[in-house]
Amino acid sequence: MIHTRISNFVDGAYLPGGARQIMDDVNPATGAVHALVEEATPADVDHAVAAARRALKGPWGKLSPAERAAALHRIADGIEARFADFLAAEIADTGKPVTMASHLDIPRGAANFRAFANVMQSHGTEFFTMKTPDGGDAINYTLREPKGVIAVVCPWNLPLLLMTWKVAPALACGNTVVVKPSEETPATAALLGEVMAKAGIPDGVYNVVHGRGPGSAGEALTRHPGVDAITFTGETRTGAAIMKAAADGVRPVSFELGGKNAGIVFADSNLDVAAEQTARAVFLNAGQICLQTERLYVERPVFERFVAALKAKAEALRPGDPNDKTTSFGPLISLEHRQKVAGYYEAARRAGAQVQTGGGVLEMPTAFSGGAWIEPTIWTGLPEDSSVVREEIFGPCVHIRPFDSEDEALAFANDTAYGLCAMVWTTNLARAHRVSRLLEAGTVWVNSWFLRDLRVAFGGSKQSGIGREGGLHSLEFYTELKNVCVRVD
Ligand code: NAD
Repeated sequence: MIHTRISNFVDGAYLPGGARQIMDDVNPATGAVHALVEEATPADVDHAVAAARRALKGPWGKLSPAERAAALHRIADGIEARFADFLAAEIADTGKPVTMASHLDIPRGAANFRAFANVMQSHGTEFFTMKTPDGGDAINYTLREPKGVIAVVCPWNLPLLLMTWKVAPALACGNTVVVKPSEETPATAALLGEVMAKAGIPDGVYNVVHGRGPGSAGEALTRHPGVDAITFTGETRTGAAIMKAAADGVRPVSFELGGKNAGIVFADSNLDVAAEQTARAVFLNAGQICLQTERLYVERPVFERFVAALKAKAEALRPGDPNDKTTSFGPLISLEHRQKVAGYYEAARRAGAQVQTGGGVLEMPTAFSGGAWIEPTIWTGLPEDSSVVREEIFGPCVHIRPFDSEDEALAFANDTAYGLCAMVWTTNLARAHRVSRLLEAGTVWVNSWFLRDLRVAFGGSKQSGIGREGGLHSLEFYTELKNVCVRVD
């Protein structure tokens, strides 16, 4: 069962309804309200942070890393046991096709807990022996201690996946969390409360407060003096606002922010595979993935052929009922976001783009006519300084430009304020390594996209983020290192 009334989850229980503001939870595929959400009051946020602080000193704080790892596996088991409910909740909130949510979003929600359970069982800390000035002996060893109460502020594009990507390492390290899911997608974070309770996670370890950002739960949480660190995924300008909030109390932040990711296709690449994977990189989740490619540079001899191949892929996408297994293309998250993306479609036309395909809103059958549908779109012919080529759109669209040399492709790709990821297609091994080194991005994919061992560092350079998470790198953020120096002679 998924919740039709979504309540704040604090100190191991859903808060009883009261005089809270109610927000509509809209299914973007249809435009229908599928649940009502109780917006957390400042008092609810206080309550959640206080519960999280108490829980640090309770049974949770006394568990060994191996016991916490076992707890994380139980949470993963719980997600898998409620797979159908998580799937239904995610699809109702996002409208994403069932094939995507069942293969990516929900399995990764469980996998994140398992991955960090394993990291916690395999890492060690530093140990050094030393001589004292008077010729004696001392040892130094490092303890990794939890940072405390972690605020986890999440976006709407991959709700369960991105939330658990932060909650799992935070809990693995012995912290407690207060999660603020996106106001667009509160359902899976709420459902996870039930899983936590059933998995025997002590009260107050996992808390969820619902609401918007400014003037609501997001701002109240990130400004809260009882929060020890803030981990955030979302837009770069929201990151800047949260960083200001974090300055009071000098709280550390970990940020995964926006992108304007480039793909480079060399003429020597396997063009069929490159076109197939590039279509995923542009259109998966209706382009609403931070790692999505919105700028594509294709070597001139294969430019026309590649544009035609990608156009064919775009036109073969099947929009439709998200619960139908043959649907391969879903809506945007909201009508508001569609207005923003449609604004870029209009800007592209005004700037003189050649619209290779798409360029408008999608006309859907009656059942879905109230949804936030928009056409998969490919442009060519825009100058590099147009807003469409420079700004993150976060929609199913890409601009493709030809290039004549490796240096030129690199210059285009790196000419951006962002640095989240990049994608390179070539069969020339030396070039693949050379270009990867010169691309200014946190992740470079060669002959692939959206593929990653969860133990590696993930994050963005330039304005795409601060810090790295993943594997041992997450431990750097979610723990405080303490050195103990012991004279032993
Ligand atoms: P957003 O920044 O609008 O919102 C993210 C979260 O922050 C929401 O929960 C929102 O309520 C909250 N928020 C907004 N203003 C706030 C404030 N002033 N104080 C505290 N909280 C506040 O982002 P979005 O629209 O939900 O997500 C899309 C963005 O996320 C895109 O820019 C995308 O690139 C980025 N993103 C980045 C990554 C990554 O790994 N780098 C992953 C996914 C999404």
